[in-house]
Amino acid sequence: MKEQYKFGTAINCIDGRTQQPVIDYIKQNYAVDIVDMITFPGANGIFSNELRHAETSLAKHSASISVEKHNSRIIAVVGHYDCAGNPGDKSYHYAQIRKALQEISLWKLPARIIGLYVNDNWQVEEVEEELP
Ligand SMILES: [Zn+2]
Repeated sequence: MKEQYKFGTAINCIDGRTQQPVIDYIKQNYAVDIVDMITFPGANGIFSNELRHAETSLAKHSASISVEKHNSRIIAVVGHYDCAGNPGDKSYHYAQIRKALQEISLWKLPARIIGLYVNDNWQVEEVEEELP
């Protein structure tokens, strides 16, 4: 099975409104067929909150399996508009996505890491690692 498909990975919110936009964006822009979805409420916030360390461990474990067993070479971390699990405005989410990019890079997985923000039109914006 795994030879047939090119996999990607997303660390995304549980929010059902974000799933399809994120899957479509990664498939269309990163030439993957299947997106392994790792979900937590307000997933981009787990990297900025020490109380959510258990979730970062689960995220790392899940991403490792996606990368090592499915040969994923892209990991997206996602924040979104109107997030119940991690409430905040767009600049707050951008900052947390950037923090998440830093933390995920410390996992040293052989995959590119990208940040995505699903905006108030449920369109996907790519979040650069640092402010220009
Ligand atoms: Zn959410």
